[in-house]
Amino acid sequence: MKTPNLSNVRNIGIVAHVDAGKTTLTERMLFYTGALHKIGEVHDGHAHMDYLDEERAHGITITTAVTKAPWEGHEIQLVDTPGHVDFTIEVERSMRVLDGCIVVLDGVRGVEPQTETVWRQRNRFTLPALFFINKMDRPGANFQRALQSIRDRLGAVPVPVTVPLPDRNEVVSLIDRSVLRFSGTQGEHVEVSPCDETLWTTVSHYHENLLYAVAEADEELEDLVLCGETPQPEAVWRALRFATLSGRAHPCFAGSALHNQGVQPLLDAVVRLLPSPLDRPPSLAQRADGTPENVAVDAEAPLAALAFKVQLWEGRRHVFARIYRGVLHPGDTVAIPQASGELVEERVARVFDVDANKRSRLDAAYAGQIALLAGLRHATTGDTLCNPEHPLTLARIETREPVLSLAIEPASSRDEEKLLDVLDKLQQEDPTLRVETEPDTGQRLLRGMGELHLQIVVERLEREFLLRVLTGRPAVALRESIADQASAEVMFERTMEVDHVPTVVKARVRVVVRPVKRLSGTEVTTTPKVVPESATLSDPQREAIETGATDLLLSGPKENVPLQDVAIDIEEVELFGHASRPEALRACVSLAVRKALLDAKGVVLHPIMRTEVVIPEENLGTVLGDLQARHALILDTQTLDDITTITCDVALDKLLGYTTTIRSLTHGRGQFSMLFDRFDAV
Ligand code: GDP
Repeated sequence: MKTPNLSNVRNIGIVAHVDAGKTTLTERMLFYTGALHKIGEVHDGHAHMDYLDEERAHGITITTAVTKAPWEGHEIQLVDTPGHVDFTIEVERSMRVLDGCIVVLDGVRGVEPQTETVWRQRNRFTLPALFFINKMDRPGANFQRALQSIRDRLGAVPVPVTVPLPDRNEVVSLIDRSVLRFSGTQGEHVEVSPCDETLWTTVSHYHENLLYAVAEADEELEDLVLCGETPQPEAVWRALRFATLSGRAHPCFAGSALHNQGVQPLLDAVVRLLPSPLDRPPSLAQRADGTPENVAVDAEAPLAALAFKVQLWEGRRHVFARIYRGVLHPGDTVAIPQASGELVEERVARVFDVDANKRSRLDAAYAGQIALLAGLRHATTGDTLCNPEHPLTLARIETREPVLSLAIEPASSRDEEKLLDVLDKLQQEDPTLRVETEPDTGQRLLRGMGELHLQIVVERLEREFLLRVLTGRPAVALRESIADQASAEVMFERTMEVDHVPTVVKARVRVVVRPVKRLSGTEVTTTPKVVPESATLSDPQREAIETGATDLLLSGPKENVPLQDVAIDIEEVELFGHASRPEALRACVSLAVRKALLDAKGVVLHPIMRTEVVIPEENLGTVLGDLQARHALILDTQTLDDITTITCDVALDKLLGYTTTIRSLTHGRGQFSMLFDRFDAV
């Protein structure tokens, strides 16, 4: 079996707070590696990775795509990750399949709220990370302060490897004690010269910092460094790689992507410091019987792959998958374990190499590789594709609650069917998007994770699929719960048609409902005392009781929305011989639960968003006042230089249109990001 040389592969992603310069940096990396022939600037709307029109119009990156970039005999596979927090699920999804990442910071702003969000996600997968401190050309950029923000806000250990000299188009490379000068129209020529003594004295404290960091990872180096000697560059790289892979150090690079400074050393570092698929710990999977299994990179073992993105290409469904173990060939049948325990089998028709816009066929995709699969109709994001003889599930990527909805209909009724068809396709690509029909009104609802998310879907409908649509006002998803304990007893007696014969059915039930701790879900207990004592419940009767109670959980008495944090206990059931048919029990339980819920003081729960608002300090008073008027619960405010970050919990309904408000309160300088946290009473 001819397997690819995995030690030369780097599956990496670039993550950042929106606007830090991720797209600009990506373009440079692709250009220098030859993966891209011309640099398209973000502000012209020509960036290579952002291949959807809406992304161009919004100047943001939404969809994960993979691009290959060859560098120094290695193959860098760049998995593009979205920068806007409305799309964190996509960031998480792509992180799951990465082996390492680059975190881009704005040299003026340092760590920003979304940097913290993506950092937390990175922690979850313990991804080795490099930092690129970008925009060092901007007035107010401060390398030292950006490093400090990494330490303070992320709790990470920044280890500078290059130091920027933006005015001179140069960076100092600390390990080689050299100066790199970027020239040519696109910074494509890198001239290396030794760093002179005067310059070195201004950066030598960074060098010391670096040596101490690597000394901690390597005993031999430690002895040298403590004796005041300078170790060989190769030994420093080796120790730094070790420290990076174990998450003990986070090497930092700096420059200006826009002005083509400092990018090539970052590419070198991807190759030298970040892991290959072989360097990563095995992934955890679960067998059908629930026992855990470690999945290590091994092409000879049974297939285990993870679908992390579904994308339509020329109208056809394609699935991006990372192969964790085994080999996948065109024509192979794969099994996809379902949440229900069932195994769906599908055939992979074709296997392609991945690239943002071009595809080449592969005869096989091996463990450690990412591939694009055609022919799968069911496999969706988060699914495990495995050998039917050896079914298992890789840890699923969690999906988030779509908390905002928008009524949508075609401008022309002739487009009804087309709209449904297109929405179905979009839903397949994006599991955080849902299309539902309101049972009472027949209205079609689009559910998503935030205003921008839905707005972009609507724009895609119009631009990509040429569908004109009308939308309503965004509406927020609600839940309800109860504040008090209450009980109810119902005697149910009715004449029903049973096999065309009017028959009296009868049952008596006593239930208790009570609130349980927030976020503990719902529980239904069906171990009632049965009267008379001589009677026992049959299986169909027991099932009917359970269904009668769970039915009610789907729509509470106050708002007709699902109930949460409620316990229902069926305390007593009285049976009347044959008259206590399952139908009677089900109806009786439902009536009793409904009655108890009505007495239990219903409360409406709103989606609460963990929100971070970043503003100039001078606007703090006004912005806090406005947030309080929105009933925000302020959790923290922190000021670094003259930028203040407010962390608070706010109900989503109070945040509709907040983008505009925050801009006008701060003369356009403020920003905010939010993430669904929980359903709670306001
Ligand atoms: P993304 O949202 O992280 O992908 O950021 P973009 O790459 O779209 O960049 C956001 C804005 O910052 C654009 O207007 C870029 O031209 C600009 N930008 C990116 N890198 C630099 C840089 O190094 N220096 C300066 N001054 N501006 C930059």
